[in-house]
Amino acid sequence: MHKISKIIKPGIIFGKDIKTIFTIAKKNKFAIPAVNCIGTDSINAVLSAAYEAQSPVIIQLSYSGASFIAGAKINTVKYQCPYKQSIIGAISIAHYIHKLSKYYQIPVILHTDHCYQEILPWINALIEEGEKNFQKTGIPLFSSHMIDLSKEKIEKNISTCKKYLQRMSKINMILEIELGCTGGEEDGIDNSSLKKESLYTSPEEVNYAYEQLNTISDQFTIAASFGNVHGVYSPGSIQLKPKILKKSQSYIRNKHKLLNINPINFVFHGSSGTNIHDIKKAISYGVVKINIDTDIQWATWEGILKYYYINKHGLHSQLGNDKGIEYPNKKYYDPRVWIHESQKNIKKRLIQSFQDFNSCNQL
Ligand SMILES: [Zn+2]
Repeated sequence: MHKISKIIKPGIIFGKDIKTIFTIAKKNKFAIPAVNCIGTDSINAVLSAAYEAQSPVIIQLSYSGASFIAGAKINTVKYQCPYKQSIIGAISIAHYIHKLSKYYQIPVILHTDHCYQEILPWINALIEEGEKNFQKTGIPLFSSHMIDLSKEKIEKNISTCKKYLQRMSKINMILEIELGCTGGEEDGIDNSSLKKESLYTSPEEVNYAYEQLNTISDQFTIAASFGNVHGVYSPGSIQLKPKILKKSQSYIRNKHKLLNINPINFVFHGSSGTNIHDIKKAISYGVVKINIDTDIQWATWEGILKYYYINKHGLHSQLGNDKGIEYPNKKYYDPRVWIHESQKNIKKRLIQSFQDFNSCNQL
């Protein structure tokens, strides 16, 4: 198999290139970290970590993360669109990543995270923007979107996703879908009271999605739940069953007489706090994308916390520190200093993920 950097250009990548990387990932047994970002600080930390690890990376935006990026409240009444802030936030930061990412010399997949039934207009607007971009430049704006209709009946989930795949594959985009539900709480969506059985999908359901979506295009990934939960909890409270992924792969392989040992590109949600053995197993069963959010949220904060403990003598007033009452503290509280400490800690935590997911030095 070729080295990725020999066949794929750095910067944001799309359809066929993403499929090629996923194929190499399954062959070389690695998965690509997908990191939820909330602004240029976290994006730069992720790009820098991926460069150091020499790994492809996925930058993803959640609905509320995109809204946060847009900053001050946009007058949604004036624009007659309650989704406007998340639409503008996502489009603005996408342009930033388009401009910057190629200089880091790594392939980047630009993705949006869970989009539920109620916020589909968000994705509709982003696809429309992608279509306009495609007409002008030959590439869309985002590499991929996730449509999460896992709370709907599977028939409705998949028939809606088919329509999106039809539209998105025309502009060289990838679609991620969800089967079963991811538990826990993320981004204000609380699935913590879901029944345990809805956290586990079945090989028959994965096959149904595969058969239906494949009639449109093969540019899709499946987040099939196997007990996944968003957030970090005490050991023993979550029971992951990655075997579900293995069984789904063999069910589909046998039913459709496929040669590929892992025909499906799986996505692993809620990896924060997961033990390395379950991660390795999931990767060997065809997981190519692993979402990491909660652990990075902690790393973001922990970097600042550590900085504060070491330098607190200079962080309580503009003047006066342990050197004397007249000493200025500008060099301690300059935001570039402590934000950089946060970025360094994000980078350190991410390098650990790149190692855990075996994606280091894959370029
Ligand atoms: Zn998720």
